[in-house]
Amino acid sequence: MDIAVIGSNMVDLITYTNSMPKAGETLEAPDFALGCGGKGANQAVAAAKLGASVMMVSKVGEDLFADNTVKNLQRFGVDAQHVTVAAGTSSGVAPIFVDDQSQNRILIIKGANAHLSPADIDAAAEDLKRCRLMVLQLEIPLPTVYYAIDFARQNGIQVILNPAPAVAGLDIDYACQCDFFMPNETELEILTGLPVSTEDEVLRAGQMLLGRGLKNLIITLGSRGSVWMQGDAVHRIKPTPVKAIDTSGAGDAFIGCFAHFLIQHGDIAKAMQSASDYAACSVTGRGTQLSYPDADTFHRFLN
Ligand code: ATP
Repeated sequence: MDIAVIGSNMVDLITYTNSMPKAGETLEAPDFALGCGGKGANQAVAAAKLGASVMMVSKVGEDLFADNTVKNLQRFGVDAQHVTVAAGTSSGVAPIFVDDQSQNRILIIKGANAHLSPADIDAAAEDLKRCRLMVLQLEIPLPTVYYAIDFARQNGIQVILNPAPAVAGLDIDYACQCDFFMPNETELEILTGLPVSTEDEVLRAGQMLLGRGLKNLIITLGSRGSVWMQGDAVHRIKPTPVKAIDTSGAGDAFIGCFAHFLIQHGDIAKAMQSASDYAACSVTGRGTQLSYPDADTFHRFLN
């Protein structure tokens, strides 16, 4: 395996409704869809769709979503032998309500994801040691994230930490042990308490984090592109122009693709450019994992 993603999986339960029910009211809604998501699973699937060999360490609940989640990962080529059941829990789910104005209301229930523990890292240790890159997010308990970072350091594995969703208590000393720290602009704002509306503000907030000892800071800025900061050096990647239809999961597409190309050739700027193109391609389609192009489709998009 090249890449180990230690993180979350979620099942999106999407109800399309003409209007939202009031308290005590029952309404009929015209449509429903079920989708596989979770930041960890999305990033694993993006890298695997591009051809990376990816394993995932994750927890599912003791329910009917578990089997579907494992099969979905396997369908996209992700090794799921370390995706295990947390007894007595529900799988992570996200009930999403979309009204006729395309407004979302989303609830997140972490379920089994909250039970991924250091013992799960130990159980996968022999396979993890063979990976070259570990990818982490914050939809699992922080002590597990810290344990994974320690494990990676002890075993010479590079680490990408995507601090999403932003957690106020994140220990920046652990972030500094990672090779790449990759927030989006909202997470950067929460982590620093500084405004990020203009490019100058983004760079100022970035410098504040770098000043605390980060190695490489890569900030995704939605339709404004992305920026890589290392020491005093700043490298900007312009957004790839596309007609965006659905931007959900764009950040995960970016990170999964970046991980794949980083492992392929080790050139950070080139991997970012590919990630930017890949994420742009993903926003031209609906959904998260389903909108991620495979290697052939991505190749056609570029040409
Ligand atoms: P999510 O939480 O939905 O996964 P995010 O907020 O973490 O997304 P963004 O910063 O919005 O991630 O987007 C990630 C990357 O995707 C951007 O840096 C950019 O390269 C690309 N991207 C996003 N939106 C667009 C767009 N409208 N046009 C072109 N590229 C886009």
